[in-house]
Parts: sequence; C-alpha cells; structure tokens
Amino acid sequence: MTDRVMEDAVAGTPLKITIAFIVSQELAKISSLLPSNKRRSLIVHSLIHSMGLLKHNSESHRIQVVNPRRASFKDLAAYHSKEYLEFVLEAANEVQFNEELGLQDDCPPFTGLSDYVPLVAGATLTACEVLRQNVSDVSICWDGGRHHAHKSRASGYCYVADCILAILCLKRAAPQTYQSPTPLHKPRVMYLDLDLHFSDAVSEAFHRPSSSCSSNPLAPTQTMILSIHHSSPGFFPASPLSTLPNPSSPSYDPFILSLPLNVGASSPTYARIWPIVERVKSAFRPDYVVVQCGVDALAGDPHATFNWSLGSETTNATHSGSDLSDDIHESPGRGNKRKSGGVGAEGSLGWCIDRIVNSWGVRCLLLGGGGYNSPNAARAWSYLTSIAIGNPLDLESPIPDHSAFPLYAPSFTLDVSEGTMQDQNTEDHLRGIETIYEIIIKDIQERMQTAQ
Ligand SMILES: [Zn+2]
Repeated sequence: MTDRVMEDAVAGTPLKITIAFIVSQELAKISSLLPSNKRRSLIVHSLIHSMGLLKHNSESHRIQVVNPRRASFKDLAAYHSKEYLEFVLEAANEVQFNEELGLQDDCPPFTGLSDYVPLVAGATLTACEVLRQNVSDVSICWDGGRHHAHKSRASGYCYVADCILAILCLKRAAPQTYQSPTPLHKPRVMYLDLDLHFSDAVSEAFHRPSSSCSSNPLAPTQTMILSIHHSSPGFFPASPLSTLPNPSSPSYDPFILSLPLNVGASSPTYARIWPIVERVKSAFRPDYVVVQCGVDALAGDPHATFNWSLGSETTNATHSGSDLSDDIHESPGRGNKRKSGGVGAEGSLGWCIDRIVNSWGVRCLLLGGGGYNSPNAARAWSYLTSIAIGNPLDLESPIPDHSAFPLYAPSFTLDVSEGTMQDQNTEDHLRGIETIYEIIIKDIQERMQTAQ
C-alpha cells in the first residue's frame, strides 16, 4: 500500500489505486513517425481505447488519462549534451544525416524528429511527475522506454534517453508537501529492463565500477539497474556490461546488473529467474520501480530470438526446475500454470508485470520500448494496462472492431502465445546465473545496510 492510498484511508475515502495513463493525439501521431515503428503508437492506442481500458473506474482502481507536457531544453539537458539537443531540436536538421550524433543507419533523421524528442521525453517526465506528486501509484507511458539513446548519440532506433531522464527525475528528493513538511530521504529507483536487447545506454549512464570506489567501496547508491535480455557475439548492442556480472572484475558494480538469457527464452525460463529479480528488489528496497516493457522478446516478433508468451500456458518446456528458488519466500515457485485470479501463466510477461504492480507495493512507472510486430505490441500493452488497472482481460478476449482490426488476423484474440522455438536456456546455464546472483545479492544486502 502506498502513502497516497494510506492517506485516502486516513481521510476516510475509499481505497483506490490510481493509474496515470499518458497519451495525447499529438504524442501518438508523432510517435507513429518513428522510422523503426511506423504507425505502432496509433495501433497501440487504438486498441487500448477500443477495449475501453481508459474508462475503467472500480472500487479499487481508477485510471486517469494525463496529457503529456513537452520537455524543455533544460529538462532534456539533464542528460543530453547541448550539441546533440541543438541539432535534433532544430526542424531544419530533420533531413540532415549526422554520423557523429548517430543520426544515420538505424537512426536516420526523420520529419517530426524535432517534435518527437521533446514530446516523448515530456510524456515520460509527466508520468514521473504524477508519481512524485503522489497523484498516481502507477504511471504508464507506452511511447517511452527508449533505452539505447546516449548522451550525445542516437542509437538502436532511440533518439531520446527518456529512461535515463525518468530515473534522474525520480531520484530527486520528493517535493515538500503540507503532509510531509520535512525533506524525505533521497528516493531509491530500481530500473528493470525486460526488452530483448540490453539496456546499454541506461546501464552505462549509471555504471560505477568497484575499481573507482576505493575510498568507500561499500557505499550504497540511489539507483539499481537490472536488464534481462539476450546477449551473444554480434547481437546488438555490443557492451561489456551485457554479460553475466563477474564480482571479481574491476568493472563490477552490484547496482548495474545484467541477466543474459540464451535463444528461445520462454515463460518457464522467466519463471525460473524471476526469484532473482524479486530478491534484488528486496535487497535494494526501492521507492520507485521503472519497468521498460519492450515486447520484442515475445514470440512472433521479427527478431525471432526469444519465445516469451504474453500470458498463455507453455507447451514447450525443455528444462527442469531448480531447488535454489525454493528458499525464496516471495518465490511463486516453479511450473507454468495459470495463476489463480487469471493473470497469465507463471513467468509470462503478464504474470511478471502483475507481480510488480500488484505485489511489490512500490510506486511504478511502466514504459514501452522495442516490439516490431505492432499488433502484438498493441495486444501486450493493452493486456498490461488491464493488469495495472486491476481488471485483467481474458486472454481469449476478441479484438473489438476498430480501424486496425484486420491487422489482428488470423486469431483476432488478445493473447500472444509461444511459438515452437526450442528454449536453449539449459539447466547448466540457469544454475550458473543463480550461483553468481547468490553472491551479488549478498553483496547488495551488505552494502544496503548503511542506506537510510
Ligand atoms: Zn529491443
């Protein structure tokens, strides 16, 4: 239960979880110009709208649609360089390739770029601000989640580092209010990245190698970055931080974590590693969780690398369970059966988001990210929205008749079920991950002992 909900209870008003959903016509239109995801935002928001999710108001939850503000130059300069911003914010440059700033190859300049950057950053910052101001418990911005954009360089279809700006915004001390006249401790922010690709720009922005902290090697930090992704030679993005952390390496930082999975990762694999995520969270004790919900790890994505399901049961498990997860109190356990209450099979994307939003008791920002099968991205983010508002849709729900309806052939239903790809996350691979994370989690617990 969050502070705001507790305040509601004290005031005698009904307990309601408030979900802020960030969208406007302008944002959806501009996001739909993104060269890598043309029209995706309009497809996503059309489905969410046509499923009636933005009108939901129950005894326990209410959703508020919030218009995003535009980020100012100063907002963007909290991370981006002046040189980068001066170029991308100038409409006259929208036809100019620029090698130095990464505006080429997979990040070509495009008409609308000078509006896209401040609008997407502004949407994510709006989502953060309503969380910080106690207006919402969960904020959703499916147009955000651009985790590859660097300080001075576009990369990997990402032109604006809204994930980093969000973390910087949330880690600032909460504004003083009538109810809280004294400054609170500086908030801790956990960033969890579920995209198929490693969160290189975010991880590198907050990386603090142990070799650079010799004066105070046990100092806790306000940020925890954990990326679950595929990593292999030649797979984007190349980053030394994308592999399994090595606690004896000079670059080791227990607050910048990477959990690489092999090809074919499916819901049973996510169910298996999920106790690690929850133990990292419990050790770090975040005030906010930012979740990058990129959906290119789902089955049916053109990357065809992972085989994650949105919610349905698996039929294709290839490895057995582990005893190591059994000692974790919060562990949901092994297997891949549908949870009572109907929020997806264990380890599915829907199930993971349900755990975060409805069990962690932490204010939460849900962002979008990758996802190159646009109707599947719309299915996924509609389903996750329904989970956040406490009214999970049935996975067999028919797609309502709306302008994009033909795109949902042939199933015309909500679920994104797994394909036939073999899950190459062997017992040995998963045990290796668990062994390393036993060490890392103990390290985090030790370092956090000195945190407020
Ligand atoms: Zn991706």
